[in-house]
Amino acid sequence: MSITVENLTKIYGSQKAVDDISFQVKTGEILGFLGPNGAGKSTTMKIISCFISPTKGSVQLDGFDINKHSEEVRRRIGYLPENNPLYTDMSIFDYLHMSAALQNVSEKEIPDRIKQMVDVCGLGPECHKNINELSKGFRQRVGLAQALIHDPDVLILDEPTTGLDPNQIVEIRSLIKEIGKEKTVMLSSHILKEVEATCDRILIISKGKLVADGSTEELKARSSGTNRLLLQIEGEGVKEGLLALDSVAQVTPADEHGKGSWFVDIKTGRDSRKEIFRLCVDRDWVLLQLTPMQSSLEDVFRKLTIQSEDL
Ligand code: ADP
Ligand code: MG
Repeated sequence: MSITVENLTKIYGSQKAVDDISFQVKTGEILGFLGPNGAGKSTTMKIISCFISPTKGSVQLDGFDINKHSEEVRRRIGYLPENNPLYTDMSIFDYLHMSAALQNVSEKEIPDRIKQMVDVCGLGPECHKNINELSKGFRQRVGLAQALIHDPDVLILDEPTTGLDPNQIVEIRSLIKEIGKEKTVMLSSHILKEVEATCDRILIISKGKLVADGSTEELKARSSGTNRLLLQIEGEGVKEGLLALDSVAQVTPADEHGKGSWFVDIKTGRDSRKEIFRLCVDRDWVLLQLTPMQSSLEDVFRKLTIQSEDL
């Protein structure tokens, strides 16, 4: 089941939380929705899950429109809200029973669905406990079980690993990946590593606007603009010599990489490696290192959302 978001806008009073965004999530995809705090992630997810209505724009789930067919949309969507609000004085069983009933799962089917969820979400060992006796990792599993109880085709997970310890993060991630084999998943995070580890595709949102959409590799490539080489050369007048090459934009010292090291930024679309090699031969310089530097996705994220303060 696919999600199509078109020209979505949400204004709270005078605050534009989501500003005319459009994107698609394809069937079976795990989409990462990345952005700093306050970017508009939760607002977008609440609208897709029919918890709040948009000021403008539309969302369709395989043709079902959130404005016109909210019942049908809700039936097909599982939603794990930010901070995973749970009724902590209930037992896991009672809570899942209530969630299933709220999702109109028939009374007859509920026990089987709960059993399946306990199994899928790995709740077995803690199954007899009240929610307030559970660790944060297990509470998150209960949240996932609640989102999945009516077997929806689409899962919307708002910051599902925030507040978990590193072991719990790894466990929840692998659970999401497993679930993602059968469902369309949209997952938000303000942590780049999170979406990089879990998702097929990444959308980056900043101040209510989409600033990037692509696979991890595409985003890295798009941002690279000028390529950077790390050079280490023994010789005289290296900086001036390199700068004189037509394809070279900038040369900066990189002493942290050893004596005679330089970062060389190459103009977009050019490749200077052969020229540099020939220059070294001509000048009798000794070329000790020539390494292309990869721009990290972290750089991309920072560049695209740079004005945001809570990074
Ligand atoms: P994110 O989930 O990316 O952190 P949100 O969607 O929660 O971002 O918030 C986007 C912007 O909308 C923020 O500036 C936030 O303060 C504002 N906002 C969110 N919910 C409300 C609300 N109920 N009333 C007024 N402003 C809100
Ligand atoms: Mg949020």
